[in-house]
Amino acid sequence: MEKYAVIGWPIKHSLSPQMQLAGFHALGIAADYEKLAVPPDQLADAVNKMRRRYKGWNVTVPHKQTIIPLLDTVEPTAAKIGSVNTIINRDGLLHGCSTDGWGLMTALKESFEIDLAGHSFAFIGAGGAARATAPYFAANGAASITVINRTLTKAQAICQLARNLAPYCKTGSCTPGDVNQVRALLQTADVIIQATSLGLNPDDPLPLDIQLLPTGKPVYEMIYRPTPFLRAAQARNCPSADGAGMLLHQGAKSLELWTGQQAPVNAMRAALHSAMKDAFVAIQ
Ligand code: NDP
Repeated sequence: MEKYAVIGWPIKHSLSPQMQLAGFHALGIAADYEKLAVPPDQLADAVNKMRRRYKGWNVTVPHKQTIIPLLDTVEPTAAKIGSVNTIINRDGLLHGCSTDGWGLMTALKESFEIDLAGHSFAFIGAGGAARATAPYFAANGAASITVINRTLTKAQAICQLARNLAPYCKTGSCTPGDVNQVRALLQTADVIIQATSLGLNPDDPLPLDIQLLPTGKPVYEMIYRPTPFLRAAQARNCPSADGAGMLLHQGAKSLELWTGQQAPVNAMRAALHSAMKDAFVAIQ
């Protein structure tokens, strides 16, 4: 039986096992996929043990950056961005790559029929998720990447990374309070991507003044359940989608990297939706 896993801290909430096990099953591969809770100070030890036992694994918060020095090789774009979420164990040599950008890109194509090439994307938020995806968009042909974030320096750092990877890509950044700039950045975007963690808790404020959101503009919410921001966008006639598609497609790409086979996306999607339904019931 091949062994796979997802590591993080905390990890209890992860729905990757249900999704990946459905994928392996549909491919006829006998595999186990576990959730491993790895505290930050035990990461190096865990990686050493996993090197001997696991064919591959996913990496989530807070290890996406800190695991990099523990690997043997890293895919060049992921190395420049400084974030990996997929480890492939090739006979004891660990190779890291990131499928987060691919996952978001594929979700946007599926939801809004929009490609990266020549299009403009406004990210709200500059945490790990925006950092892993916005520079990937620049590197893969986006015309412009803008980032709106409470901490301006983090938004600027993402823009710098995007320009390093793609000097032709236009960038811009501001804080949510810079109303004129926010209005301009949202207006010029083809898609707006909500990438803050606001909306995970019921009392969270909206990430920006909703009146600044142009009516009818496609909005992607990275959180994979309906949030107040998503509902407010829908009320402004914005075509919208939650983060389930991104989660699905980043996982499907990981499975392809481990197995060399095309991912059975529909089987994985069905398992993910069922796991989400159970998780949603559990938190209500
Ligand atoms: P981080 O903790 O790294 O970043 C959090 C972001 O939210 C930062 O931009 C932070 O701003 C902002 N933020 C947090 N609290 C506030 C606040 N009170 N006011 C204003 N801004 C705030 O999280 P991640 O980037 O890892 O994840 C972001 C979201 O994306 C999460 O909800 C996660 O669930 C989701 N996600 C979904 C994925 C999917 O596959 N669908 C994949 C990865 C993540 P500041 O920089 O100023 O602190």
